[in-house]
Formats: sequence, structure tokens, C-alpha cells
Amino acid sequence: MNAAMVKDDYKQRIVDGGMQMVAEKLTVGTWGNVSIRDPETGLIYVKPSGMKYADITKDDIVVFNKDLVKVDGHRKPSIEYQFHIGIMNARPDVNCVIHTHPVYSAVLGALGMDLPAISEDFVQLVGAKIINCAYALPGTPELAHNIVEALGSRNAVMIPNHGTVCCGSDWDMVMKVCFVVEKAAQIYVLARSIGAPKLISDADILAMQDFARNHYGQGK
Ligand SMILES: [Zn+2]
Repeated sequence: MNAAMVKDDYKQRIVDGGMQMVAEKLTVGTWGNVSIRDPETGLIYVKPSGMKYADITKDDIVVFNKDLVKVDGHRKPSIEYQFHIGIMNARPDVNCVIHTHPVYSAVLGALGMDLPAISEDFVQLVGAKIINCAYALPGTPELAHNIVEALGSRNAVMIPNHGTVCCGSDWDMVMKVCFVVEKAAQIYVLARSIGAPKLISDADILAMQDFARNHYGQGK
């Protein structure tokens, strides 16, 4: 391990990202956690455990390699560092992971209900649906295993009686995933309270995902 591989600007991204999560009301207090991988070195930067986001500075960020070995930082890492690194190891396309405790996703998590395809932004950005992983205690290798398994190739997964994990290729994407998952969960909970929501068909899910991947945006 070369000390020069650890980059200050990645530590600052964790500091800034945490503050953005608080500002966007995605988390409160010391809950939730965030990690970012530097694709150049493969090193993974993680929030420290049990510290208020406003108190965290670059000096508090903990850095790991892919083998879950701490390579920099004097703080204890977020207790959930194992699932952050587990997701990055399983998903080369993912460089950012955010874990939050938002209300409407947590309602589905408490009921053990999946979140199906009910809105086009969700289908394009997150997947055809998201599911609950098998229950395990926070901070355990078992929970890390369950999360990676239930996430599969989708960009979010719910943890029963706990919260939500969202991932993306970069910070902007993972923030969008967080918003879209919670919005879809809110729509689903409200829709089910007054009726039976209509779901998007499998054929239309595939068509929308193909459009988002290959045709949406300038220059495609
Ligand atoms: Zn949590």
C-alpha cells in the first residue's frame, strides 16, 4: 500500500456527501452511512462510526482496500462498512453506496413488502422492482451477505425493520437513486391506501430500460 494512493479529495467527498444527506433529509443524527470508491486505486472511503455529520472532517474518514483491510484513518469505521465493501466487490459498476433510514421505504421494510414497478423513473434508474433482504442484525457479516444477495443487479435494496441501501456509479447517480426509491415508496404506500396500484408491464419495463441506457440524453 502506497500512502500516496489515499486521496484527500475523496475524503472531502465523504464529508460533503454526508452534509448533503442531512440537508436533503435523507438521514438524521449519526444514522445512515456513505462510501465512495476511487476507481483508479480501488480504495474505498467510509464514514466514521457514531459521529454527527456536521462534526466529521477529512481526518475522520476511514479508508479500506477491497479485502476489508483498513489502510488509512484513526477512527472506527461505520459499523456497516462490510456491506459497503461487499457491494463494491460484487458490482464493478458501483462506486458509491448510501444507506439511509427514510420513512416510506421503511414502511415497506417493516411489512416485508417489495416495491414493484409503479413509475417510469424508478424503472429506468433502479430496476424492475426492489426487494427486502433477509433479516440480520446491523453491522454483521450475515447482513452484509444478505444485502449483496438481495441487491443483485438492481440499484437499491430494503433492509427489513431497518432502512434502505442505494448504489450508483457516482455521487450524483446514487443521490438520484435515493430520491427516486423513497418517492416511489411514498407513491406505492399512498396508492395502496386508497386502491390497487397498476404496475408497469414487463415488456414496457424492458423498453424503458433500453431507452434509458441507449437513447436518453443529449448525444445518444
Ligand atoms: Zn442503518
